[in-house]
Amino acid sequence: MANTCIVCGQAAGSGEHVFPAALGGRRTNKNIYCTTHDNGYSSLVADLANQVDVLNAMLGVVPDHSDDVKSVLARDDSSGEEVRLSVKESSFTSPRVISQELVANGVVMNMSFPSRQALNQWLAEQKANGIDVTPLQKAQEHPYYLGAVHHQRRFGGPCGLGAVAYVTQTFLAQAFPALARSGDVAQFIAYTQAIAKLAQISSGCGEPNDGPANPRLETARQAFEAALAPWGGQAPVWWDFDIQPDAAPNAFEFGHRVTVGVDASDGQIFGRLSLFSSIHFGMRFGTASAGAETKTVTVDIDPMAARPPNDIKKVESASAIARVAVPKQPTAGLAAAISNGSQDGVFSELLRKIEARSLGKAAAKMHAELAAYSTLAEFEGEQLISRVLEGQAQRVLNIAKWVLQNFKATLPAEVLPGLQPTIDAMTAHDPSSTNGLTPMASATLALAIGALAAQLREDIKAGRLDEHRIAELMGEGPGAAVVGRAVLAPIVQALSQ
Ligand SMILES: [Zn+2]
Repeated sequence: MANTCIVCGQAAGSGEHVFPAALGGRRTNKNIYCTTHDNGYSSLVADLANQVDVLNAMLGVVPDHSDDVKSVLARDDSSGEEVRLSVKESSFTSPRVISQELVANGVVMNMSFPSRQALNQWLAEQKANGIDVTPLQKAQEHPYYLGAVHHQRRFGGPCGLGAVAYVTQTFLAQAFPALARSGDVAQFIAYTQAIAKLAQISSGCGEPNDGPANPRLETARQAFEAALAPWGGQAPVWWDFDIQPDAAPNAFEFGHRVTVGVDASDGQIFGRLSLFSSIHFGMRFGTASAGAETKTVTVDIDPMAARPPNDIKKVESASAIARVAVPKQPTAGLAAAISNGSQDGVFSELLRKIEARSLGKAAAKMHAELAAYSTLAEFEGEQLISRVLEGQAQRVLNIAKWVLQNFKATLPAEVLPGLQPTIDAMTAHDPSSTNGLTPMASATLALAIGALAAQLREDIKAGRLDEHRIAELMGEGPGAAVVGRAVLAPIVQALSQ
């Protein structure tokens, strides 16, 4: 029985990921879906994976079908060019012309390439097109500083919720194989099937579509409405902004949690999914026939674990503490959370935690790099500190910007118009320069790096430079004070004259 597809009853054996591979799931199970029905859910999973890809990229999740960390495409505000972002690096996706000048026999161009490989490929393409390119100087590696980067993603929607329902349904089938095939959850499976069919059609998830309307879309929409009818016309899955009933913290930092269970008192078959320990969903699968036992299975999933066995932690209990309270209006919780700001709060809190983790990692790396300081002569030691800070220059630039923006906010209204252009110019971007900054912004960055270098040296000599202190100096606290004193000095001087 356990070897049949929970949708159609035919032989299972597709070996799909129990938790989606794109979200860092590492385990597969051949006992849940046939190949047709496994594949049928893939568009739905892709929709959810797209929605959280920027979070996966910021955390450095390696999708299970990939060898490299997740990256996302975004747009650099100052150059307008596309950039690829991941925890490892940010780079432009295409060659960039920084400047060009007509000369007697052609054009002199100053260009930038994402990598040496991209440069060589471009040279080969020009040659193939009969264009003669002569490098005037050897290629050099330069950092490029990004300004605001835009990456927009919608989150949730009918397909996002449908994907959440499908993922949790798969865990229900794994933990309660007989129940999943009993017919007690048939209406829930019909719902995930119907939303999965919508997701397979272009614009079925509500995304804009310029092309002609697909006639299949209307049919799929009607089938979806029909699948919702037994649920009162509402999806049996919803956002949950309440405090989670299972107080046990996730076993992993930024871990996902799937909870499935049955409450014998009234037969409720319930499910919960928490993404990144932050974004919570609840759902009701149906009602179990008499004779069911109360049981809950909770699985924590580490999206950052490269492979089994330490990627999951499973707990079984004979309680139904995680049972759900079905909202009268499944969308009411979300609507309220959007209007009172708590949905925004969930995301900004998650982003804050991810940023804190990234700062901690940078501090650990710098601490390791600076360990050699004590073995070096004074001059070499200074060079080491500068090198280590240059490696974090984008972070230093961001601190300088943060300091200047905050300073601007404290200025009295009568001096603001006079000073604002200067303050903004101090960290202005210039996409036509090699490093993406104006000369004035480059000078501000150099000032900030110099000030932090002096502080790092002082702290090393005083024996107080541990990872925690480095994180403070590279963040928006003590570090901002150090950077602030340096970059604000010229303005303060001008003001006092
Ligand atoms: Zn099937």
